[in-house]
Amino acid sequence: MSKKVLVLEDEANIRSFIVINLKRAGYETVEAGTGQEALDQLRGNPDVNVALLDVMLPDMDGFEVCRRIRAGDNHIGIIMLTARTQEMDKVTGLMTGADDYVTKPFSPAELTARIDALCRRTTGEPAAAADPGEISCPPFLLNTRNRTLEKNGQRVKLTQVEYSIVKLFMDNIGKALAREEILDAVWGKDYFGEVKIVDVNIRRLRIKIEDDPTNPTYITTVWGYGYKWGF
Ligand code: CA
Repeated sequence: MSKKVLVLEDEANIRSFIVINLKRAGYETVEAGTGQEALDQLRGNPDVNVALLDVMLPDMDGFEVCRRIRAGDNHIGIIMLTARTQEMDKVTGLMTGADDYVTKPFSPAELTARIDALCRRTTGEPAAAADPGEISCPPFLLNTRNRTLEKNGQRVKLTQVEYSIVKLFMDNIGKALAREEILDAVWGKDYFGEVKIVDVNIRRLRIKIEDDPTNPTYITTVWGYGYKWGF
């Protein structure tokens, strides 16, 4: 099955460089030069698997585009393209709902590796036949067939990455998980980004699931090591 990638980049030469390399790697591409164009393209192409969003754009910034995409779609994978000098962008981007970031200048190989990894995660593996389809962990109920989470019967909107993190915790209730272990399990062993991405995703997840995100009781921190579900 062919994978479709939206490339949002206002600089035409960078955009065509990315597009040429993605096509060579077997991806279908959809292009946009402004934030508004990207949102329009996504409406016309609901089968896009991954969106690459540049941060500096003429109309709105890439974070705003990300926010607007996430307001309506939690299934698509989002990768921010950030400049090396914009260190803070990474955290901001992930907090607005991006799954990953790639720092410019990047190699075509690095970019396609990130997209491949994200495609694998967002597609997900079908539940095994013996899978009961639900993990109950009051007040939470995780449905592993349609990859959704409920808290007190209310749907919590999660990205596919956030879902994978919750699933990992619920498969390991009460067990301390090292940050590297979470990175390997959710992002894949071939992921070569930074472990910090785990912390940022957990910060975002806590805002969605904790009663008080500043005093988390579900995803607790194991200092100097990682995280754990419960105490
Ligand atoms: Ca730009």
